[in-house]
Amino acid sequence: MPTPRCRLCSAELTHTFVDLGMSPPCESYLRADQLDSAEAFYPLHVRVCGECLLVQLPAYLDADEIFSHYAYFSSYSDSWVQHAEDFVAKAVHRLSLDEGSFVVEVASNDGYLLQHVVGRGIRALGIEPAANVAEAAVARGVPTEVAFLGEESGAKVTAQHGPADLVAANNVLAHVPDIVDFAKGLRRLVADRGTVSIEIPHLMRLVEGNEYDTIYHEHYSYLTLLTTQRVLATAGLTVVDVEELSTHGGSLRTWSMPTEHADRPSESVAAVLAAESAAGLHSLEGHSGFAGSVARVRNDLVEFLIECSRSGKSVVAYGAPGKGNTLLNHCGVRTDQVRFAVDRNPFKHGKFLPGTHIPIHPPERLDAERPDYVLIMPWNLRDEIAEQLAHVRDWGGQLVVALPRLEVLQNTF
Ligand SMILES: [Zn+2]
Repeated sequence: MPTPRCRLCSAELTHTFVDLGMSPPCESYLRADQLDSAEAFYPLHVRVCGECLLVQLPAYLDADEIFSHYAYFSSYSDSWVQHAEDFVAKAVHRLSLDEGSFVVEVASNDGYLLQHVVGRGIRALGIEPAANVAEAAVARGVPTEVAFLGEESGAKVTAQHGPADLVAANNVLAHVPDIVDFAKGLRRLVADRGTVSIEIPHLMRLVEGNEYDTIYHEHYSYLTLLTTQRVLATAGLTVVDVEELSTHGGSLRTWSMPTEHADRPSESVAAVLAAESAAGLHSLEGHSGFAGSVARVRNDLVEFLIECSRSGKSVVAYGAPGKGNTLLNHCGVRTDQVRFAVDRNPFKHGKFLPGTHIPIHPPERLDAERPDYVLIMPWNLRDEIAEQLAHVRDWGGQLVVALPRLEVLQNTF
């Protein structure tokens, strides 16, 4: 295979950020009748570009394949709907949007965000690649075009509907293989004096928190404010402000404008850039320590599981989120070490985790089996989950997290 090239600047990618070996696509849960069949594994070898510093995973999996049938409906998550409502209120106030304004959202999903724009009497349009999800949006009164955003489709939408005062693209930039064409699409959509708002998981938080389970095949780019600026600059967009959010383990929300009409960047922009630089993320050498941190996390978890196995202690997993599969596969975990996982999502019950083939049961199974240790997979919700699982202590069980470092939670829950 030829050396992969940077999706931002086309330089050859010769530097490794972290190599997690081979892993199956993280959302490919298996049915019982698939367990004896072959399973596709793809590399999770993350590179950092020596020229532009974009941290990235080559597109081992085709985006069309993943997102055209994407089954995730954002409205199923209460916290996301609330997050979206807060964003709309903030944007309307910040940009003085009114009945004469036009808002476009890219990767608009089932209209969970734009419903709040429509509700305020503001004209809105969603752009969503998954036809079945777009249908759900239209059903709730959110006009939606079925398309992937690029320069061509962006120009087409603007020719038909006019330029937008606000273009929102939340949690999608990291998931597009052709990031430059996508940025050009954003520029095509936005009015010359309009604003583009983007949310991205922040690489700096990923590194600080050892959040390596947020690395998976559909997550192509791992962005800093610096690299986001560089991506947007290729399309003539300038970041004028940035906010730090707690979502997805630590995210950035950037506000950008067409460069020729852009306001002067705020002090927050300088502050986040300074923090990234201090964390080493503005130099190639500064990216070199992460692989070592990941190895430590794996060694600690594997050592813990081996010790449990030797001493006859049982371990089960709480939560079967897609991202947990990166961690379990990287650590080579099998059912002799983690017997089963429980999850509240009924669609996963009776299925098996990809690669590891760990079975998924309803949460009640915990009480029936009374394991010695419960490994909490969604570490970002550890306090909330620890509270829900307080009764595990009644049978002498203990709660464990693997990230940011292995920790047996003391009886604080
Ligand atoms: Zn590059």
